[in-house]
Amino acid sequence: MTILENIKKNIEKVSPYLEMTESEKNKLLNHKQIKKAELELNGKSYDAWRIIHNNALGPGKGGIRFHPNVSEDEVKSLSFWMSLKTSLVKLPYGGAKGGVKINPKELNEKEIQEISRKYIRKFSDYLGQDKDIPAPDVYTNSQIMGWMLDEFEKIKGRHEPGMITGKPLILGGCELRGDATSKGGKIILQEFLKRKNKKPNEIEIVVQGFGNAGRYLTEMLYDLGHKIIAVSDSKGGIYNKDGLNIKKLIIHKNNSKSVVDFENSENISNKEILELKTNVLILAALENQITKENADNIKAETILELANGPITFDADEILDKKGVEVIPDILANSGGVIVSYFEWSQNKTGNILDKDYLENLLNQKLKKAFNEMYENYLKDKNLNMRLNAYKISIKRILEAERARS
Ligand code: NAD
Repeated sequence: MTILENIKKNIEKVSPYLEMTESEKNKLLNHKQIKKAELELNGKSYDAWRIIHNNALGPGKGGIRFHPNVSEDEVKSLSFWMSLKTSLVKLPYGGAKGGVKINPKELNEKEIQEISRKYIRKFSDYLGQDKDIPAPDVYTNSQIMGWMLDEFEKIKGRHEPGMITGKPLILGGCELRGDATSKGGKIILQEFLKRKNKKPNEIEIVVQGFGNAGRYLTEMLYDLGHKIIAVSDSKGGIYNKDGLNIKKLIIHKNNSKSVVDFENSENISNKEILELKTNVLILAALENQITKENADNIKAETILELANGPITFDADEILDKKGVEVIPDILANSGGVIVSYFEWSQNKTGNILDKDYLENLLNQKLKKAFNEMYENYLKDKNLNMRLNAYKISIKRILEAERARS
């Protein structure tokens, strides 16, 4: 089953709770705008997309990915998730995403700049602070956003920093950006544990994926007093039932480029780490990590999805039966897009807000979104947390569609 089919199955499952007409459901299941182009570089041509899933609540919002596996289906799925995420956390946005099917690891900096500027030349008519606002995603970063902004402003002949987020600070970026996704994951997990009356030192944690999002979150949770018993990256995992020293692990990872072979720990496989007995398993690597093949072996009590789509639809059903509670991606990793919203608002108004004020706002927005979802979940345990989050988010999109028709 593709990721898009997974999302559609979840929509089907939640639709009886939404009093949605067939035509409304069709509208939701179809993308509003699909734009495709070919980008030429060194005599070769690369497929590129910008797709808006829905824009009833506001302009499209979503990153641009550079990756050799990018496909139209993937960009459609990611834009769908963005619609659900922005609606759930009450941002004035729809959902969008972009991608180029290219391997940036094979390009030098000059070529990456060229492909980034060509992307904007092809899609500039469809982008803008009130149309569709890109941001970084896999293998794109703030420098690339800087080049893209520059190209857009050259074409339009005016400044418009709000057309893209995740920019360098000097071009209107937001101070909170660097670890916003991880901070969001931390806030959501702490809210959840509060509901269970659990203190950090009572909770053991396993983390799959020690990249940008996973590493910062692991360090934050370690600083709060959680015991981190296992961590993995693409090369393998490490385990110590008494807890790992995460400060030392970060130095080890920086030096050796992997977490494996870390002092006072035993190396374990990527398969084994997912199946460890633990209070919380954090998935911060890739999509489709828990499927119907391994779902029955999961021994975690709770899973926090920091990655997008790490659990398939079939696996969700198995985990539900086992009583494993999953805190869904569209909530757990929404810290990044909330900070993008702060950046965009500052760019539109020209009013630069204080960092502490924004930190506080991020906290409030996430706590509110979590508690709304959790209250619904407590009332209706027929639907797991993911489906309750989908319900809230789709309801808002439908209301906006209805207000327009
Ligand atoms: P990243 O590339 O920095 O990190 C990914 C990590 O996963 C790396 O440590 C890699 O070694 C590891 N990994 C890959 N395959 C693995 C495997 N089979 N087992 C264990 N580890 C494996 O990426 P990131 O930015 O940290 O993003 C991770 C996930 O979080 C992605 O799904 C991304 O879409 C999602 N996400 C990230 C952000 C963000 O702001 N960084 C925002 C929203 C969602």
